[in-house]
Amino acid sequence: MTTEISKAAAAIQPSATLSLKSEIARVESTYGVKIVDLTAGQPDIGPTPDVLQALADGGKLHKYGPIPGEAGLRPLLAEVTSRETGTTFTSDQVVVCVGAKGAIDCIMRAVLNPGDAVAIMAPFWVTYPEVVAINGGKPVFVEPTADMRPDLAKLEAAVANNPTKAILYSSPSNPTGVVYTREELDGIAAIARKFDVWLIADEIYREFSFSGEPAPSLFGGEDTYENAILVDGPSKRFGVPGWRLGFVAGPLEIAKAISRIQSHTANPSRPVQAAAQVAYGSDLARSATASMVARYKKNRDLFVEGMNKIDGVKCPTPAGAFYCFPDVSGLYGKKYEFEGADVEIRNSTDFRNFLLRVANVAAVEGGPFGMDTHMRFSMAVATDDCTNAVAKIAAAVAELKS
Ligand code: PMP
Repeated sequence: MTTEISKAAAAIQPSATLSLKSEIARVESTYGVKIVDLTAGQPDIGPTPDVLQALADGGKLHKYGPIPGEAGLRPLLAEVTSRETGTTFTSDQVVVCVGAKGAIDCIMRAVLNPGDAVAIMAPFWVTYPEVVAINGGKPVFVEPTADMRPDLAKLEAAVANNPTKAILYSSPSNPTGVVYTREELDGIAAIARKFDVWLIADEIYREFSFSGEPAPSLFGGEDTYENAILVDGPSKRFGVPGWRLGFVAGPLEIAKAISRIQSHTANPSRPVQAAAQVAYGSDLARSATASMVARYKKNRDLFVEGMNKIDGVKCPTPAGAFYCFPDVSGLYGKKYEFEGADVEIRNSTDFRNFLLRVANVAAVEGGPFGMDTHMRFSMAVATDDCTNAVAKIAAAVAELKS
């Protein structure tokens, strides 16, 4: 009994995206095929040379650094964030963390008591419910409208009917690519204010907006909610997810609590912070981000067009992030032949297996994102991969039997 792992640890679902990686490798080696991989949750570019050089130079920072972040980085993040969002943040409101993922974990540690509910806008990034549960909270899912937009009436009901401590969402959204409008963001803030709960805005994809205008920030409204907390980081915009750096900007009380927590857990490495400081001020890095976003937009356009030509698939046009999230449930109930037997597609995991086995395309099933009727395809790939994937999916679907 004494050597059992904790209930919280035992209940954690492994990341769907990571388990898929080993399945891709297995299919490739067993059947001698090459899979077109559209599962990536990360850019296909890396940092610019100036930023890489700063990382190497940062090796000189080999002693412990300040827990809430490097002295030069915090004011810069405060300045960039103030400019991009429209709300003024001071450097002591910013705390750097081990990835945006680590930032969300720290926020949950800072705000949750056992049993507190967190209202999560569905569909959601797979980590949200897990990180809430790990920290003793209870995820409560808020279903979207039919066109995948935040349903404010459902959010209000969820907050009213549960012992809610926080609301959590991402915009631009992983997995839908939906970008919340000013009105939607203000509506969410009004609900948070009415019920006096924390409002956690994950804006890590803010730079990935295809409209030509930046994605609206929660913090860009007329009257910013004082208990709102921003999550952001360099992972996506500068193509450095492996560096494990993110940050929180929010009320001083939250920044101080997270700093206290990190003084006993983990804070990010100093060389990485030194490199991020260069990245956030680099024209080269900024233009690399812009050309990446332009390329992903091109990928999105050809992918959406191709997918919508396939009977049984409905693929909305995402306005941001770098994912397409089509509804494939029109193909549920159909069958394909695999290893001499007929296999029926009944859910998103079955559809993911069908794509892998017959189309030789990898995508992530919608189930773990809270939407079993859908599939997530990453546009953060070479344009040829997108074109090939659509052709292979169309050919595989054409072979399906009723
Ligand atoms: N938030 C969202 C919505 C994400 O999709 C991701 C990465 N997949 C993260 C946060 C985590 O970012 P990081 O790599 O900085 O931990």
